[in-house]
Amino acid sequence: MNQRTGKAYDAVIIGGGAAGMAAAVRCAEKGLECAIVDREETLGGILYQCIHNGFGIHEFREELTGPEYAERYVGEIGRRAAVDVFLNSTVVGIDAGTPKKRVIVYSPFYGVLVLTAPAVILCMGCRERNRGNIGTAGTRPSGIFTAGLAQRLINIEGYVPGRNAVIMGSGDIGLIMARRMTWIGAKVSGVTEILPYPSGLSRNISQCLNDFNIPLYLSHLVTGIFGRDRVAGVEVAPLVDGKADHKRAFSIECDTILLSVGLIPENELSKEIGVAINQDTHGPYVDANYMTSVEGVFACGNVLHVHDLVDFVSEESRRCADCVARYLTSEGPPPSQGTVKAGPNVIYVVPNKFHYQKDTILFFRPFIVKNNVMLSVSLNGKVVRTKKLLHVQPSEMVRTILKPADVEKADPGDHNVVEISLR
Ligand SMILES: Cc1cc2nc3c(=O)[nH]c(=O)nc-3n(C[C@H](O)[C@H](O)[C@H](O)COP(=O)(O)OP(=O)(O)OC[C@H]3O[C@@H](n4cnc5c(N)ncnc54)[C@H](O)[C@@H]3O)c2cc1C
Repeated sequence: MNQRTGKAYDAVIIGGGAAGMAAAVRCAEKGLECAIVDREETLGGILYQCIHNGFGIHEFREELTGPEYAERYVGEIGRRAAVDVFLNSTVVGIDAGTPKKRVIVYSPFYGVLVLTAPAVILCMGCRERNRGNIGTAGTRPSGIFTAGLAQRLINIEGYVPGRNAVIMGSGDIGLIMARRMTWIGAKVSGVTEILPYPSGLSRNISQCLNDFNIPLYLSHLVTGIFGRDRVAGVEVAPLVDGKADHKRAFSIECDTILLSVGLIPENELSKEIGVAINQDTHGPYVDANYMTSVEGVFACGNVLHVHDLVDFVSEESRRCADCVARYLTSEGPPPSQGTVKAGPNVIYVVPNKFHYQKDTILFFRPFIVKNNVMLSVSLNGKVVRTKKLLHVQPSEMVRTILKPADVEKADPGDHNVVEISLR
């Protein structure tokens, strides 16, 4: 197949969801010429299928639906001549071995298109874990969907996936779908969760389950799926000390199972070019400038770590684009950075490095559900700052700012370590 060499850009952005769009707008504001490439027909990513409200509370001080939130950015991009948009176009590879990186795109319009730029921003979002990822026993009937796929079928394609559903996992997509299935006239017979607390946001438990009297079975495992051609039911057992108590197992009849059992950042392209992946986030390790382990390749949004709110995705992506602009214009070696790591009761912290001379905004995910918790920031093992938090839970990310004053007692050199912990 012939290759067509496209225009040379300052930055090529892979993925046109909330992250890619916010990065593109900020790149344009900084005077950079950039291209966004997305495999879908429209910009917006996952936002277009999220027709519920709850988006934009921080960003626009309004409660918008997903498509409304996306439209605000699509409008901004339309007004920026410095942003070229390639839709229906899939990035199939990146050649990151030279300063001018080559992004290989399959496009129905251009065929094979090669876009070049000194900076690439990874914004590919994440995908859902499926039955294969969780290994549930039982038969293999039809009627098992991931919750996001069911959301797309109902909200975009206009199909009803079933009449009586059980939702496995209490992640936000599952909770939103419990309400959505009820609204379209289906029954939701229950939501099962292996953890002793819900995986989704508290507001979704209240608005999507409690308001519709949908039972939530915490500390319960689906031990079997029944049905020959179509799902007929599930067997559910309570968990005691992490093990299924089969004597107290019970069945729930259903014709549909929706899986809401986690999201995985979409990093196949990243891995192919040797980007180092953090096993706690499943996204790339990034320094305080959002640069991955491959020079000139940056990452933000759900490809970096799964976010609870889109507002944080947009904020992080603007910050990432600011760093790209600085990277492209600065001369000489970059200032040294220290390491950030997750301490007790913290699953992960992003980014994985901090600045000595300016603020570093850190996002972290708690490992515990607790009220009145002490957030503690330590430098090389010594506590430099504490802050009381009213409530933490794994489904809600926490944002904190590491200030130069916090690290003023750092040793010379860049081997200093900041640890974020909760007690
Ligand atoms: C069901 C659901 C409900 C949510 N509810 C809320 C809520 O109420 N409030 C809130 O604030 N947030 C909510 N969120 C979170 C928020 O919407 C997301 O975190 C955010 O939109 C993710 O943006 P993103 O750009 O990182 O990823 P995405 O939106 O997933 O965008 C990634 C894009 O990359 C493209 N792509 C991937 N690989 C390639 C490739 N190789 N070539 C070309 N294109 C590629 C994809 O097509 C996609 O368009 C919800 C999320 C979901 C899934």
